[in-house]
Amino acid sequence: MNTLDTLKNCKKFAIMGGTFDPIHYGHLVTAETVCRELDIEKVLFIPSGRPPHKQNINISDNEHRYLMTAIAAEDNPRFTVSRIEIDRPGMTYTVDTLGALRKMCPKSCEIYFITGADAALMISSWKTPSKLQTLCKIVVVTRPGYDKNSIAAEFERAGLDVEKAVFMDVPALDISSTDIRNRVSIGKSIKYLLPPNVENYIYKNRLYVYTPDKKTAEKAEVIVKKLKKTLSSRRFIHTKGVAEESVKLARVHGADEKKAYLAGLLHDCAKDIPNKEKLELCKKYGVEIDKVLAEQPDLAHQFLGAELARAVFGIADKEILDAIRYHTTGRPDMGVLEKIVYLADFFEPSRRYYDGRDEIKNLAYKDLDKAVAFSLKHTIDFNVKKSRLIHPLGKKAMDFYEEFL
Ligand code: ATP
Ligand code: MG
Repeated sequence: MNTLDTLKNCKKFAIMGGTFDPIHYGHLVTAETVCRELDIEKVLFIPSGRPPHKQNINISDNEHRYLMTAIAAEDNPRFTVSRIEIDRPGMTYTVDTLGALRKMCPKSCEIYFITGADAALMISSWKTPSKLQTLCKIVVVTRPGYDKNSIAAEFERAGLDVEKAVFMDVPALDISSTDIRNRVSIGKSIKYLLPPNVENYIYKNRLYVYTPDKKTAEKAEVIVKKLKKTLSSRRFIHTKGVAEESVKLARVHGADEKKAYLAGLLHDCAKDIPNKEKLELCKKYGVEIDKVLAEQPDLAHQFLGAELARAVFGIADKEILDAIRYHTTGRPDMGVLEKIVYLADFFEPSRRYYDGRDEIKNLAYKDLDKAVAFSLKHTIDFNVKKSRLIHPLGKKAMDFYEEFL
């Protein structure tokens, strides 16, 4: 239903504006509390266009924010979402939105405008704030025990009458969209902070994950084009997963995100080359074919991958090349980037589930050496069970990392 239809017979409704990037339980609990306490018929969630105070911040696309809000509001008959701000071109100001809504509803209709204490403390910087109370009643939601004096002072500065505002305590939900975005960007859980279908939406649309700077993006684009020619589509999805997971690990462990991204993208660049051709290319690029590689040429893809990354994809950085070169066997005393790509390859989300995967993933965000130790052990046990040969580098790596088990 459009906003006009929702409001034309309304006697009492509330508005909750926000960036909703993403909407979370803090917003929803607030809206529900206000709705019940003030006996309000409808709460209208209004995702903002590009808000004036967030001009320089990278916020998600309007449609993503609108859809997440709509999904979150879906199961509450009193909640509805309006496109009024996102469909309006240019800057959006609360006072203009309120004015427009006023015109859509009966004169006698009461409008409540819900704002969190953090936003209320900036109200004097809004456009013509003193007009707000001619259009609506302001509801300030605070945590229990919040100091109201600072809000009273801010209202005075804004030319607003604090006595006319409704103050309401809501349960102390220490949730913010900023924190949720940060959590997603470093692979931490956001479960129970927002509705599960919004959580799924975020993952499905890959919101809040690393986006490379322009130069890296251009480089990555060229790489991806070439990769798509040789990799199967399943392998390509895996490759993207490893690149993204590597970036998250790099962020947490203070490694270079760009290098992690490129190493992740290229780690399997030789994987889907037929084995016979792999061996020929190994010869061409001087990769030694030892006993294990002769029997299991597939394993050569890590060494060959590093050579191709250098010769075909133009990567000169030694850390990136080594991260590719040892990503399957590992080796003793790996560098941070090597450990990151090794682990990302082990548990990126498109990999089939196996016992212990989630434990190793959690560990990887806390302790790289320990996580490497457990995944080496897991891999070696698995290959022994399958009667495969273990590459000497893998054995040496295990000896080195055993003390972390
Ligand atoms: P960000 O971290 O990006 O600033 P946010 O979590 O503060 O996001 P907004 O979309 O900026 O969310 O907020 C919309 C409205 O909801 C504002 O009035 C804000 O004060 C209020 N609000 C935000 N988080 C909470 C919360 N946890 N409890 C109650 N109100 C909240
Ligand atoms: Mg905020």
